[in-house]
Amino acid sequence: MALVLTDTLSRPLRTLRISVTDRCNFRCPYCMPREVFASDYPFLDRSEILRYEEIERLVAIFVAHGVRKVRLTGGEPLLRRGLPDLVRCLARIPGVEDLALTTNGALLADLAKPLKEAGLQRLTVSLDTLDAPKFKELSDSEVPLNRVLSGLEAARSEGFGPIKLNCVLQRGINDDEIVALAKFARQGGYILRFIEFMDVGTQNGWKLDAVVPADEVLAKVSEVWEIEPVQEPLAGRVADRWRYRDGSGEFGVIASVTKAFCGGCDRARLSAEGSVYSCLFAGSGVNLKTALRNGSSDSDIGAIIANTWKRRDDRYSELRGAETTPARKVEMFHIGG
Ligand code: SAM
Ligand code: SF4
Ligand code: SF4
Repeated sequence: MALVLTDTLSRPLRTLRISVTDRCNFRCPYCMPREVFASDYPFLDRSEILRYEEIERLVAIFVAHGVRKVRLTGGEPLLRRGLPDLVRCLARIPGVEDLALTTNGALLADLAKPLKEAGLQRLTVSLDTLDAPKFKELSDSEVPLNRVLSGLEAARSEGFGPIKLNCVLQRGINDDEIVALAKFARQGGYILRFIEFMDVGTQNGWKLDAVVPADEVLAKVSEVWEIEPVQEPLAGRVADRWRYRDGSGEFGVIASVTKAFCGGCDRARLSAEGSVYSCLFAGSGVNLKTALRNGSSDSDIGAIIANTWKRRDDRYSELRGAETTPARKVEMFHIGG
């Protein structure tokens, strides 16, 4: 029987997001702006990032402390060599009930099949625009939009449940595509999630007036289709879910700026170099790699995890703007979204 660990706000530890690399083949300005993350940027060395067997060991320890859902992310997780091998190992850990991955989709056409065969259950693909020139600008890469769309198609034909699409909206950049993206998702059977542009990290030049509020998204979608909310328990909830009344699926809005809600946040985040963070906006993490590499036992490492969670009082999004918010925040590509 796994422990039920709760933090100072009675939130259980249920979800672990693992960044498997800090590198990426895109340079989305809201995450890794090229001016900062140029070719001389000191990304982590191979020896600094957790090896697959270390991740596997940590996941088993996290599961013993209540984790049931695991999501692989990054950086771009598909850049990490042999990722299906890691998926295969994690899928075999008893207690991992949900194994998912978030990707920019650039390498998905080739990897959808091996990932599915390895036991990956769910996929989220980031897609901010359906316009090819705009895609080039938003991803600041040479990868054409079509490659992501073929990756999505490949994933769909592998039979990954309903695939989610993450779309970060920015004022004046892609807020004119809300209906087009919703239509694309409805037709393809994808669950689109509109995400409010967040002030993660310190490098993305975030400004409140670039945020497209969730209410505006709902108003635009409901001008075209009749929608109704999907009721669900608060625990672990991230997105507000809405369904189309004509039965053609659902979409979500992640309103972490305008309707922040930390009350159901059950997520811990493991960085590529093996530190655990209790909040997306945390200023620092707790190092687990040293313990992994100095011969500590599983119960020693479990105690570090338990202490970190028990002390947790994060609710950054709810406090955003208050004086208590940290000045130094971890970058998103370190710990994934
Ligand atoms: N590279 C993968 C991808 O883009 O899907 C996985 C890592 S990425 C950090 C995870 C998610 O975070 C993506 O859907 C991305 O759009 C989102 N994201 C990154 N920066 C963001 C920001 N400033 N505000 C909101 N979402 C952001
Ligand atoms: Fe890379 Fe994902 Fe960040 Fe874009 S959002 S730069 S794809 S890690
Ligand atoms: Fe969870 Fe921190 Fe986001 Fe609140 S701000 S939902 S505590 S990650």
